[in-house]
Amino acid sequence: MGWRCLDCGNKGSKKFHAGRCPACDSFNIRGKSSTVKDSGSRSERRKKIDIAVLVVCWSSLALLLVTKFF
Ligand SMILES: [Zn+2]
Repeated sequence: MGWRCLDCGNKGSKKFHAGRCPACDSFNIRGKSSTVKDSGSRSERRKKIDIAVLVVCWSSLALLLVTKFF
């Protein structure tokens, strides 16, 4: 478990205080913990991609069923 600042490369053994780097005050940090909450736009984008994949899967399944029965 370790945290690293992506802007200045500062490393910490535990989570940076208030989710920001103590050296350069950047929020651009990354942690290896499973409870990553402040990764920001990247996880948000991944969530949107997950939803899009889910929608595509279900709609293709529905289309398959519709074309099979009608
Ligand atoms: Zn930093």
